[in-house]
Amino acid sequence: MSGQEERLRLGIDLDGVVADFNAGWMERYNRQFGAALDTSQVVMWNGLHTLTHFETMDDFWAWAQVGSASIFRDLPVIEGALETMTELARDHRIVIVSSKFDWAIPDTLAWLSEHRVPAREIHFVWDKTTVPCDVYLEDAPHNLDALVAAHPDALVCRMVRPWNRPVAGATDVNDWHEFRARVATRARRHVLARETPLPRS
Ligand SMILES: [Mg+2]
Repeated sequence: MSGQEERLRLGIDLDGVVADFNAGWMERYNRQFGAALDTSQVVMWNGLHTLTHFETMDDFWAWAQVGSASIFRDLPVIEGALETMTELARDHRIVIVSSKFDWAIPDTLAWLSEHRVPAREIHFVWDKTTVPCDVYLEDAPHNLDALVAAHPDALVCRMVRPWNRPVAGATDVNDWHEFRARVATRARRHVLARETPLPRS
């Protein structure tokens, strides 16, 4: 954003969209336990721990924060995310909307800073509907459902992943290239709607 009028508020999720959460934790897990987990094994939203020796997700999360930094500090970046956000930020407002445990927040902020994510706002919330945006990019099934229901006028984009399914009212995007195209279309509509007075009924 150049300081001139910004167009759309783009609500961007992090894990599974900008940061490759599964690649990150699996790399650490494999190294630490001599395992050979692969990201292709994640095909459902719940029950990540069933791929590991951990009995519960609580055990998984306890492990995830051990060490000098948690797993959220060194997640790989998903292809196209940084370039596209940097480009979109010239005309739009990048609003990070991420669900994080308290312990993960400092590492997430360090990660965003290290990768120079041009975020004007960062929200750590469990209920993402509380952050109003014109466009959302999200991969979690429960968040997609909630966003579509709460913000019917917004463009809710599902980042297509093996752990989510099409959601009525959401638009599928397979990568950041497709997301950029969807935002461009929405921005044109937005400008048009503002410039064209509503016809009298
Ligand atoms: Mg996510």
